[in-house]
Amino acid sequence: MDRTAGSESTQAVHDVATGVGVTSDHAGEQIDGFHLVIDALKLNGIDNIYGVPGIPITDLGRLAQAAGMRVISFRHEQHAGNAAAIAGFLTKKPGICLTVSAPGFLNGLTALANATTNCFPMILISGSSEREIVDLQQGDYEEMDQLAIAKPLCKAAFRVLHAADIGIAVARAIRAAVSGRPGGVYLDLPAKLFSQVMDAEAGAKSLVKVIDAAPAQLPAPSAITRALDVLKGAKRPLIVLGKGAAYAQADEEVRNLVERSGIPYVPMSMAKGLLPDTHPQSAGAARSLVLKEADVVLLVGARLNWLLSHGKGKTWGAPGSKKFIQIDIEPKEMDSNVEIVAPVVGDIGSCVTALLDGMGQNWQAPPTAWTDAIRTKKEENLAKMASKLKKNSAPMDFHGALGALRTIIKERPDAILVNEGANTLDLARGIIDMYQPRKRLDVGTWGIMGIGMGFAVAAAVETGKPVLAVEGDSAFGFSGMEVETICRYDLPVCIVVFNNNGIYRGTDTDPTGRDPGTTVFVKDSRYDKMMEAFGGVGVHVTTPDELSQAVNAAMDSGKPTLINAVIDPAAGTESGNIGSLNPTSTVVRKKIA
Ligand code: ADP
Ligand code: MG
Repeated sequence: MDRTAGSESTQAVHDVATGVGVTSDHAGEQIDGFHLVIDALKLNGIDNIYGVPGIPITDLGRLAQAAGMRVISFRHEQHAGNAAAIAGFLTKKPGICLTVSAPGFLNGLTALANATTNCFPMILISGSSEREIVDLQQGDYEEMDQLAIAKPLCKAAFRVLHAADIGIAVARAIRAAVSGRPGGVYLDLPAKLFSQVMDAEAGAKSLVKVIDAAPAQLPAPSAITRALDVLKGAKRPLIVLGKGAAYAQADEEVRNLVERSGIPYVPMSMAKGLLPDTHPQSAGAARSLVLKEADVVLLVGARLNWLLSHGKGKTWGAPGSKKFIQIDIEPKEMDSNVEIVAPVVGDIGSCVTALLDGMGQNWQAPPTAWTDAIRTKKEENLAKMASKLKKNSAPMDFHGALGALRTIIKERPDAILVNEGANTLDLARGIIDMYQPRKRLDVGTWGIMGIGMGFAVAAAVETGKPVLAVEGDSAFGFSGMEVETICRYDLPVCIVVFNNNGIYRGTDTDPTGRDPGTTVFVKDSRYDKMMEAFGGVGVHVTTPDELSQAVNAAMDSGKPTLINAVIDPAAGTESGNIGSLNPTSTVVRKKIA
């Protein structure tokens, strides 16, 4: 069987420089770059590609599909990239995003950078133009030095010039993406590479099946002893679980650590559900209290970045009142913002297991004064929230609508919740309890808008579970065209658009009276009609009861559905919970003529 792409040019083009090509008609079976890339991915257990077809990778997608891979074609590379990134988070295998050269590459780059920032393993594979012309800046089709541009935005970037190197390049990309702190990798494949041919047997031999791509990294025994000594001395200990802990898939170990230690914990957003949010030791509903009052904090796969107020300031109480222990696979993370008195460097599974072993049988649970204070605060806060969640008004406020969705996830704990927006995000994170690990996917470390549809597609493809995407109307707009992708692949995705006519609120006006206010959208838009345009189900709802009914119907049917949920335009607050990061002017200027 001849496994080259079949076109005449494909047969003819052969890079002599490789020294491995076979040009003779009498030669045995041949293989080309297209098939080598596909075989290299498949050999390493990578089954899905997220991308946008075009020059020079159109045939790559086609051939990958023919070879049994799932190839999901998007409408814009950023969403394909986000899909690949979250596939990486969900599976611990690098998610693959495939794009065309220059503009397609750049569109995918946002997702690559975001993946790297969030420690999600992904590989952006982009076709590129002729090296000779690009490097002499002679104006090639989609000319761009993509490798140089990608480098600062990812963990590693590689270019392959010879078909015989594809196997090694894919192996290196996989290792770079998943080993140590996971992240994004860029693989630059010039157009010419795809049609290079070589002897099929030599080609097969050139492929590498990566052995132990993300090796266990054991913590030093002295680091474990040090950490346990600090933890033992605590009067008000706290565990913070981050999305690194969710990624690690050490679910049993993490649960055992929490339960055997008896220490209260707070989950970061994407660590929700690692233990059920209803767990008696969850201090999520008393977050402000525990961050402020704890004396020893054990960070498990969570960085002390802006999301944790850098480990200092008002949020964390009196200066010097805390000792931090940190478990992380990345040694450079230690002391990034404040002193870490007990760094534990290693993979979370190994580190947590070592801590458990070291705790022994006589471990003392934290003082009840501490756990009682947390319980009281929790009950108080939960009671305050409960009444707000029951409001069945039209138009809805955020609490009323989210109260309905909270019940849905309680009844369908294996559904995956994708969440982005401002108020829609902040309030959903607090209100919707999660019950299982890796079921909440959101805007992550950057608080990026536009992850919604990409994450929803990959969540459905990778897990086969129903997906509920809770989207602010602005957030949805960034990736909204991908509803066509969701319909085309008939994915079990139910999108709820919280439609409050704008960003934060729908009430802004232009002081000059000329244009719409800068943060408002077309009033009373019908996002549900977008879904209907592609054969999906569109529903328009104005009350929490109607919202519940529509979501349940969507989840029962598994049909692509978009629910336009009318939210009071006056209900939101500027920038949601992070208004403090949003500078506002206090200067009143005199009128300029
Ligand atoms: P969150 O935003 O939920 O607090 P972060 O993204 O800030 O989480 O932190 C995740 C941390 O987890 C990163 O510092 C990363 O290095 C670390 N990490 C990721 N995977 C692992 C792993 N398998 N073992 C240990 N640490 C990990
Ligand atoms: Mg809005």
